[in-house]
Amino acid sequence: MPLKDTYILLGSAGSGKSTQAELLKSSLHLAHIDIGSELRAVAAHDTPLGRQVNDIINIKHEFVPDDVVFAVLSDAVHSVPETVGLLIDGIPRRASQIAKVLEVLEATGRSLNRVIFIDVPAAVSVERISKRYACQSCKRTYILGKNLITSDAPCRYCGGKIVQRADDTEEGVRKRHEIFQEETLPVVQYFEGTGQLLRVGGNQETYKVFKYILEHVRPD
Ligand SMILES: [Zn+2]
Repeated sequence: MPLKDTYILLGSAGSGKSTQAELLKSSLHLAHIDIGSELRAVAAHDTPLGRQVNDIINIKHEFVPDDVVFAVLSDAVHSVPETVGLLIDGIPRRASQIAKVLEVLEATGRSLNRVIFIDVPAAVSVERISKRYACQSCKRTYILGKNLITSDAPCRYCGGKIVQRADDTEEGVRKRHEIFQEETLPVVQYFEGTGQLLRVGGNQETYKVFKYILEHVRPD
């Protein structure tokens, strides 16, 4: 079993990416770097970089510039011991970020094994996400039609108000899926060209997606 396995995970909202990341992380003993969470964690720190990131994501609600993203990514990758495998999640989002991500990996002596792309049609993203709700107070999650009958019901645990994330509407999800396709398909195509891409259909049960990924990243 080779040491320092390094994977990148790509998938749009509603692809099941977060669930697969958790499964891969625990079964392959990987450190998981989700660039979105890393940026939110940095934003909570009272340092010059922390204040800069907080201002961008929490106050101005803008995209974090690439140089800041790569500084955060580089710190996160460097903090993982070199004997531990790595799963990078959420980056590269655009073709222009590929070279820099590979450079960050190389700087720590890592080479990329596979890029795992969970592919779902827009309709599936919309179907999954537009049914997602959560309690404003206790944060418990609900799926409309499963454990939630009507969207105006109160939380059954704490009586709190049940709400949807502001962009978890059908239109919002469709737009996010479109942006993902536009921005990230060139990344997918790039790694298809290098032979590193593992494309898995996300429109099937969680364990089937996981089984397919495992069989292909660890053929033994
Ligand atoms: Zn609640």
